[in-house]
Amino acid sequence: MEAEAFVPEGFAMGFFDSVGDFFSDAYDAVRGGVEETWNIFTEAANRLLGLPDLLVCLVGIHPRKKLRLRVLILRDEHGRALMSERDVLPAVELAKDVFDDQCEVDVLAVGDIMIRTLPDSAPVAALEVGCTWDAWWEDFGAAGQYFRDNHASGGFLGYARPVTVFIVREVRGRTGCSLGPLTDYVTVDVAGMANPTAPDGRPRILAHEVAHACGLPHDDDPNNLMEPNGPGTALGIWQECFFRNSRHVTYL
Ligand SMILES: [Zn+2]
Repeated sequence: MEAEAFVPEGFAMGFFDSVGDFFSDAYDAVRGGVEETWNIFTEAANRLLGLPDLLVCLVGIHPRKKLRLRVLILRDEHGRALMSERDVLPAVELAKDVFDDQCEVDVLAVGDIMIRTLPDSAPVAALEVGCTWDAWWEDFGAAGQYFRDNHASGGFLGYARPVTVFIVREVRGRTGCSLGPLTDYVTVDVAGMANPTAPDGRPRILAHEVAHACGLPHDDDPNNLMEPNGPGTALGIWQECFFRNSRHVTYL
């Protein structure tokens, strides 16, 4: 009888792999929790410190501010980009125009290039994501790990932190998702990016999700950017000032 008849080697490796996976999953979940807590803390601190600026905005004084944006296109299991960078442009341009016209905010790239395609295939967990509680739960798992590993860094203690938009294959039951102040990233799916929902024929979902990331909740008016289905792109004075009060929207 040969020794390897006995071989617990495969079992042992499987066992240690499982233990390794468990600790790596636990590490990612903890990292997700720490980052969400940090984001909430810095968001609250920035909003509190920005209170005078908010009040000044509400009386109509709104010097220009900046928002740093990165848009990352995922690749599927076969390495194919889900969209071309050119096809993403109209939605990004709409976001730039809306925030420029209505909030006096310049949307800038992080570094030289705003829209990039990620170099490698994304995990299925990040290609197909949920929203609301699902998105929150997924932020502690493989999807959140992938988004955290790839989202843009920058700013200081949360101030001037860029917002990263991930172009994914599907946001289940929706076309885009944001966890608001909990995360520095939002997701928008290919169907949403192909849907010309704004009156001028450009997709508005990207601007809508970025506005959620900067603290804006939904609104009932179909002319408003924050109405979930559109087609509006308008923002009211409260929305403008609350958007400008986000830690993502800054003077520096
Ligand atoms: Zn929404």
